[in-house]
Amino acid sequence: MSNYCENCGCRKVSGYCTNCQEEAYIAFVQAPDMDFSEEFMREAWRQENERNSKGGEA
Ligand SMILES: [Zn+2]
Repeated sequence: MSNYCENCGCRKVSGYCTNCQEEAYIAFVQAPDMDFSEEFMREAWRQENERNSKGGEA
């Protein structure tokens, strides 16, 4: 299990790449109690779903 993003090589924080998954990281890890715009949350969920679906891939 790598601690580094397989896309950009950045170190992951709490399972999120703060570069590729910035919105998801902010929305779910950094400030989960904060109110974000609909667009921001849509992007955050898109990244979260992508993250979850990447399980077995190279
Ligand atoms: Zn990345």
